[in-house]
Amino acid sequence: MLAVDSLEVVYAGVVRALRGVTMSVRAGQVVAVLGGNGAGKSTLLRAVSGTLGMHGAKVTAGALRFDGQDLAGRGAADIVRLGLVHVPEGRRIFGRLTVEENLRAGGMSVRGRAARAQARDQVYELFPLLAERRHSRAVLLSGGEQQMLAIGRGLMSAPRMLLLDEPSLGLAPQIIGKIGAAIREINAQGVSVVLVEQNAAMALALSEVAFVLELGRTSLSGPSAELAASDEVARRYLAVA
Ligand code: ATP
Repeated sequence: MLAVDSLEVVYAGVVRALRGVTMSVRAGQVVAVLGGNGAGKSTLLRAVSGTLGMHGAKVTAGALRFDGQDLAGRGAADIVRLGLVHVPEGRRIFGRLTVEENLRAGGMSVRGRAARAQARDQVYELFPLLAERRHSRAVLLSGGEQQMLAIGRGLMSAPRMLLLDEPSLGLAPQIIGKIGAAIREINAQGVSVVLVEQNAAMALALSEVAFVLELGRTSLSGPSAELAASDEVARRYLAVA
């Protein structure tokens, strides 16, 4: 469904953030992307979602295909319409707007009031806490609720694939468990998920397949259960989770 082939990305014309990333995601899968700070995980998601430009970066080599369509040269809005939605690191919600207004902003590309209302109701079903707080300003939510809102906002455009950048960042274990359960539920409803995480234990538990990035390259990949059992992965990634 998503195919990334030998991808290279450069920031500001000089910083070679990706130097050959190859990965693929099949329809219905949850795929984890692991790696330390600066390995290139966020850059990979930005490349897929067509948002490199707003960070001063661009693809310099390689190919990106989604559902057989070439993503090269497509704008971010166009890529959302194809069904690929990116929930960036740091949530990026609108703090001064209410929960409901944030969701509405996420659904702007969806045609039809009824379809938008249905998407919103599904988000509230998935995250009942958001329904309770629908009229609160987003800035007043806890970190976990803000992450739920960021994911919910992404779901408003009815994606077929969700790109999640570090959804567990800064959250308490109990809340991470709730986010993990929501990711499982979203996937059970037919949405494929690319899960970027420094929390390797969480990501390996949720995913079927995992890719490890190191210095902008895919250094390791395989079934998540195998990576979770590998001594090397345990030593390098699980200890810091
Ligand atoms: P983290 O978990 O710390 O976000 P990451 O694996 O997501 O790490 P990226 O953020 O993709 O890594 O960074 C990959 C490389 O690109 C790093 O060397 C980083 O310094 C560089 N980089 C990222 N964003 C920018 C930017 N806006 N301008 C210049 N260089 C950048």
